[in-house]
Amino acid sequence: MKTRVVVLGAGFGGLELTTMLSDAFGDAIDVVLIDKSDAFVFGFSKLDVMFGRQLPAQARHPYRDIVKPGVRFLQTTVRSIDPTARRAVTDAGTFDADVLVVALGADLDPAATPGLVEGGHEFYTVDGAFALRDVLPRFERGPAIVGVTGKSFKCPPAPSETALLLHDYLTARGRREATDISVVMPFGTPIPPSPDTSRAILAAFAERGIRFVKDCLVQALDPARRVAVLSDGSEMPFELFLGVPVHRVPPVVVESGLATDAYGWVPVNKKTLETAFPGVYAVGDVNGVGTPKAGVFAEGSARVVAAAIVASLRGGQPPEAYKGQGSCYVEFGHDQVGRVDVDFLSGPKPTGTFQEPSEALVAEKAQFGSSRLERWFGRPQATRD
Ligand SMILES: Cc1cc2nc3c(=O)[nH]c(=O)nc-3n(C[C@H](O)[C@H](O)[C@H](O)COP(=O)(O)OP(=O)(O)OC[C@H]3O[C@@H](n4cnc5c(N)ncnc54)[C@H](O)[C@@H]3O)c2cc1C
Repeated sequence: MKTRVVVLGAGFGGLELTTMLSDAFGDAIDVVLIDKSDAFVFGFSKLDVMFGRQLPAQARHPYRDIVKPGVRFLQTTVRSIDPTARRAVTDAGTFDADVLVVALGADLDPAATPGLVEGGHEFYTVDGAFALRDVLPRFERGPAIVGVTGKSFKCPPAPSETALLLHDYLTARGRREATDISVVMPFGTPIPPSPDTSRAILAAFAERGIRFVKDCLVQALDPARRVAVLSDGSEMPFELFLGVPVHRVPPVVVESGLATDAYGWVPVNKKTLETAFPGVYAVGDVNGVGTPKAGVFAEGSARVVAAAIVASLRGGQPPEAYKGQGSCYVEFGHDQVGRVDVDFLSGPKPTGTFQEPSEALVAEKAQFGSSRLERWFGRPQATRD
């Protein structure tokens, strides 16, 4: 009998894990990869589409293109998970696993912020970001707010990147002087683990006249008065609101008992990513390992789990403990990208090393995307026009 690994979620984590298992075992393993979507979209492609730098169809990488020995992709929704039995129930049937990997990411809940759905926009879901492609051309004047509505959110640089790209977008349209841009964030600096990156972002904001409102969340929008209500009780007027919606643990994961509640990310052994249930792992945004919610960390955690599965099936040494390291590319506008290399778990506190924005890093980021597509889907695909 082949070992069956059931992977729930084909995002950064699920795709990397599946690829490593296929590379290691080929047809000698039975990997079932399940996702409710028909296509993978990079987080950063949401910004590219919304600012008109990429067409929506180019940002979608269909799962039907995955052709890997030992791997079956199934497009279906996971309805329940039994971690004790290592079983997942989906619309396409029930799957029992020898090893169950939960890689379902973070769910987004725009309705949790009063007024956001009625009076604002969000750019974190695929639908929300792609719809903004048709909204932004109509923004002519007044204040724009890029606002975070919950403390835990994916890709901490993304709100700052959005503000910088919005500046370029409005400048190119000749509308920058008629508009204001503010960023509302729950941190004291844009990227707390890396003071150098934060300094560079704040300098770019100052140069472009972008206001940084620190240590605050947007709690509600009042669509009638067109104001955002912040967590300190103050109000900010807006004409355009670009929100980072509240993130929550997917309900199916909470109902399984793997997480205690909607905001308690799945507890795991920090070194192995195993949950309290033997043979059940949680990788990527869904877990509470303490790294930022970003693709690079989802990928890194998936690698540790894949290596552990390989070692246990082949009888080798277990892999080194998960280190929580990753490199994030940061769009600075002006066709430049910076990079921050962060290390969350190897030392006593998180550290981050910054590389100044450059055109070389634009090329490196493109290579980062295309190399993943080649690995995960088996052939090169473009990540930008
Ligand atoms: C605007 C933006 C910019 C970003 N930029 C970057 C960046 O530059 N670099 C970076 O590293 N990260 C970036 N990110 C973050 C990155 O996209 C995520 O952190 C990453 O995708 C997490 O990977 P994951 O595998 O944990 O989850 P995901 O990639 O979210 O995958 C989870 C999968 O589970 C599926 N799923 C969920 N529930 C069910 C269900 N019940 N049944 C079946 N399937 C289900 C979903 O369809 C999804 O495909 C960005 C995010 C955003 C929003």
